[in-house]
Amino acid sequence: MNNAIFNYGYPDNEPVKDYKPGSKEKKDLLEAISKMKENIFDIPVIIGGKEIRTGKTSPIIMPHDHAVSLGQYHLASEADVQLAIETALEAHKQWSEVSWVERVSVMLKIAELIAGKYRYILNAATMLGQSKSVYQSEIDAVCETVDFIKFNSYYLNQIYQGQPHNAPATINRLEYRALEGFVYAISPFNFTSIAANLALAPALMGNTVLWKPSSTSVLSNFILMQIYKEAGLPDGVINFLPGSGSEISNIVLHHPMLAGIHFTGSTQVFKGLWKQTAQNLDIYRSYPRLVGETGGKDFIFVHNSAVPEEVATAMVRGAFENQGQKCSAASRAYIPKSLWPEIHALVEKMYHEIKMGDVEDFSNFVNAVIDQSAYDKIMYYIEEATKDPGTKILFGGKGDKSKGYFIEPTMILTDKHDSLTMSEEIFGPVLTIYLYEDEDFEKTMEICDQTSPYALTGSVFAIDRYALEQAKKTLKYAAGNFYLNDKPTGAVVGQQPFGGSRQSGTNDKAGSYLNLLRWTSPRTIKENLTPPANFIYPFMKKDSCTSSKT
Ligand code: NAD
Repeated sequence: MNNAIFNYGYPDNEPVKDYKPGSKEKKDLLEAISKMKENIFDIPVIIGGKEIRTGKTSPIIMPHDHAVSLGQYHLASEADVQLAIETALEAHKQWSEVSWVERVSVMLKIAELIAGKYRYILNAATMLGQSKSVYQSEIDAVCETVDFIKFNSYYLNQIYQGQPHNAPATINRLEYRALEGFVYAISPFNFTSIAANLALAPALMGNTVLWKPSSTSVLSNFILMQIYKEAGLPDGVINFLPGSGSEISNIVLHHPMLAGIHFTGSTQVFKGLWKQTAQNLDIYRSYPRLVGETGGKDFIFVHNSAVPEEVATAMVRGAFENQGQKCSAASRAYIPKSLWPEIHALVEKMYHEIKMGDVEDFSNFVNAVIDQSAYDKIMYYIEEATKDPGTKILFGGKGDKSKGYFIEPTMILTDKHDSLTMSEEIFGPVLTIYLYEDEDFEKTMEICDQTSPYALTGSVFAIDRYALEQAKKTLKYAAGNFYLNDKPTGAVVGQQPFGGSRQSGTNDKAGSYLNLLRWTSPRTIKENLTPPANFIYPFMKKDSCTSSKT
């Protein structure tokens, strides 16, 4: 019987390994990659811990070498989805009742397995399946996933300690119940850590989950499921449903016990889920919690007091790492005309040093975009820009999909602050630059604030303190993650809680206590130690001082 009050200390962020030439970690990782390529994966649907092979399959393709298939995954059928709902509801009975200490223990074991035994396997799967460079994979699949788990466990400990005041002769308590029903987690392709967190955060709070992974990250997501099992996460707590998002959602969103949706992905899909949920409101037992982190049109805004080297580095890293497939990737930049010649020369020099290619060659800074449809969409934007008379491609602009889905890092210069590539999310290695007259700093910031419907990340570069102060005011609602003299990407759990508002999401800040609060439904319990035994209140008693009019 556990009757102690446990305290989990403030965790440290998981250290990022370097993978330097000749290092043991590089050797171990390359070994894991080659073993993984020898394997032919046959990834099942997993419900209540049981593997189900439906026979309806899709191949797992390497984006940087699409002739290579790493195997196949099975798509969940309608019956599987129904079964997963029943299984999650059944598992809820035990999981939501088990002591939080046990839940945290399982989570921390998952974190240890990822940081240790599975580090290179999870990295290999993320690199091969999602075409991430070693560094992008290490900071995502390993470090951020571990951080999500450890920091969330710490935050849960803090949240549960939040208790109300006790008045004389009463005891007041807050019980942090799991939501009543099941949570539906839908994850994007671009971050293994986000995929993990979307299912694990509600599970940590005692919920059971249906998890629909993205079709282009099934491999790394399946490895996560194997880790959860090995760590002792009870069967049925997280049920794995690869398959068509719309078909699965049509069933899930019609179930009365849908208690919440934890989504990360495009704005359009999240809006569709929200609308469907609103239409079904009458059938639900509770109001489902809707948490969605969605698209971005993230900016770098430069003041003429900025340091050109710092700006150029932020532009290249912020726009092109992970092929610009980060919701936070810099995709528009506002630069004062006086600084442009110097910044232009610097980014051009850096551009010529960028190498693009296979993830197994660690000298490549840029790898492939995720699939054919992403390739086509990004190339469409580049082609549209070439047709626009006020817009020119400064460098890059070419794509080659013969072997893998490769698109050159592309910088576009435009004289229209609202041109297509200045305002729409592209989700690829494309950065559009708009030059402004130095004296129009304030006016141009207002344009930046109003140009796109998103408000995810943005950064401002300046040495001038008043300029930074002004930018914080004018761009108050333009970004949920706002950076001063830093690139707009690379938020770290425990340091920069992540999320944006406007069309970028519900801003529930993944990796913070704010997100966890969405997965609990607190119950207040008041106990009266001296219950009254007569309904008459003192004010109702006869007052000898009042007149005897009545
Ligand atoms: P996506 O919206 O295409 O897919 C996300 C998930 O939704 C996938 O699992 C997909 O299969 C599923 N899905 C697709 N159609 C669906 C439907 N009709 N019903 C239910 N589910 C459906 O996004 P993506 O291409 O995987 O990821 C890129 C997008 O995600 C970008 O817009 C990016 O900005 C955003 N993103 C945002 C954040 C953030 O924190 N704000 C983080 C990562 C990615």
